Amino acid sequence: MTYGMTQPVQQRELIDGFNRRVDYVRLSVTDRCDFRCVYCMAEEMTFLPRADILSLEELHRVARVFVSLGVTRIRLTGGEPLVRPGIEKLAAWIAAEPGLEELTLTTNAGRLASKATALRAAGVKRLNISLDSLDETRFRALTRTGNLADVLAGIQAAREAGFERIRLNSVIMRGRNDDEVLALTAFALENGLDIAFIEEMPLGAIDDHNRAEMFVSSEELRDTLAQRYTLLPATDGTAGPSRYWRVAGESGRIGFISPHSHNFCHLCNRVRVTVEGRLLLCLGNEHSVDLKPLLREHPEDDAPLAQAIIAAMDIKPERHHFSHDDNAEQLVRFMNMTGG
Ligand code: SAM
Ligand code: SF4
Repeated sequence: MTYGMTQPVQQRELIDGFNRRVDYVRLSVTDRCDFRCVYCMAEEMTFLPRADILSLEELHRVARVFVSLGVTRIRLTGGEPLVRPGIEKLAAWIAAEPGLEELTLTTNAGRLASKATALRAAGVKRLNISLDSLDETRFRALTRTGNLADVLAGIQAAREAGFERIRLNSVIMRGRNDDEVLALTAFALENGLDIAFIEEMPLGAIDDHNRAEMFVSSEELRDTLAQRYTLLPATDGTAGPSRYWRVAGESGRIGFISPHSHNFCHLCNRVRVTVEGRLLLCLGNEHSVDLKPLLREHPEDDAPLAQAIIAAMDIKPERHHFSHDDNAEQLVRFMNMTGG
């Protein structure tokens, strides 16, 4: 294989030191966001200077090199990807890469109503949409700046735009929204959507609440749901961290992402790239490689970038060590910087 104008790179797949194949990349297209969710950001955030973030062309180049190394799935995320100008253009460039099987995007849906059709046309196949409450006042409190009506309009527009699947993501916190688990699930199922409940992770120092006190395990949520629904294990789940259940008579599935109570690291097939071009090998560890100098020092030669990505596989950690027992922040990195 030849990149740009340079020497051949023979390797066509990414295998880490624990024999896991990396075929999935989460690419953060911005650290900025129009919301300030209490579990994700502090109220006052400092965002990156524009010169430090990758251009759309550089983001595309990173995606292209990963696809040339056997990556088949890319998720665009952030921050809020829909605040990045040109997101539709970037999606179309990446979706057109030969070898890429699926381009997906995670969004807060605040701006989705006006962008859903263009994103679908660009080639985004599936969407994850964050929704933690169906109560307007509470939604505002949890997101600090979000408007529920905009998000619901975004969800409706996404349904009409014909995405292959739409999944709601809900982070459940005790005393904040744990009483909405059934209502959120009913909303998802009525609209033919999947829903995944996510355990809060200790990413970044937040000032809003004590994460240990508000922790709700997936087991507890599943017990709550089992009182209302007959849950059948889904056999068509992806190899990712979500464990899915079907509900008799419904098309939507219920998933649980349980980094605390169910360790899925042995199945890990993914890496993340921040909008600064830092390749993160694990959500719960600091191991990383800075790709930006390689992009900028070799503007027409992708080989150094490809070699650095291949070499980085050797430092992908075996597992994360998230714990909800002690409230010590284990990572200084906020989720908006990580690319959720
Ligand atoms: N802004 C988009 C959104 O909210 O969907 C995409 C980025 S956001 C960082 C991706 C996902 O990470 C969201 O579903 C959000 O709920 C989740 N998230 C953020 N901080 C988290 C944390 N500390 N623990 C668990 N999930 C978190
Ligand atoms: Fe923004 Fe998403 Fe983080 Fe909420 S979870 S603050 S919407 S990046």
